[in-house]
Amino acid sequence: MATIFTKIINREIPATIVFENDKVLAFKDINPQAPVHILVVSKKEIPTINDIKEEDKELIGEMYIAIAKIAKDFGIDKEGYRVVTNCNEYGGQEVFHIHFHLLGGKKLGAKII
Ligand code: AMP
Repeated sequence: MATIFTKIINREIPATIVFENDKVLAFKDINPQAPVHILVVSKKEIPTINDIKEEDKELIGEMYIAIAKIAKDFGIDKEGYRVVTNCNEYGGQEVFHIHFHLLGGKKLGAKII
């Protein structure tokens, strides 16, 4: 079954999309934890970090390049930001479709998300 993020990628459910290329989609988190809270999602359905394969190396690089571009677009690149990926139960992962949280727009405290 498609993940909620695949439904966003396929435009089956709405989201505020801020970046897209052939491998990556980024949109605003529905429950923001910071003034800027963007989810950077792989179009390929990889459930968790544990499932990343050799063949995904370029994709993961593309995701970081997208993060840097989005941070610049939102004007948070110079002051700085945080990138978080949760993995499985203890990591607090809710959506099993690999994604990076891009958090910024204020000085972030020790509690990350
Ligand atoms: P994680 O706990 O790392 O799996 O994070 C999942 C994130 O997805 C949470 O921060 C949610 O607020 C966010 N989220 C869930 N559904 C949606 C949605 N339909 N649109 C945007 N963000 C969502």
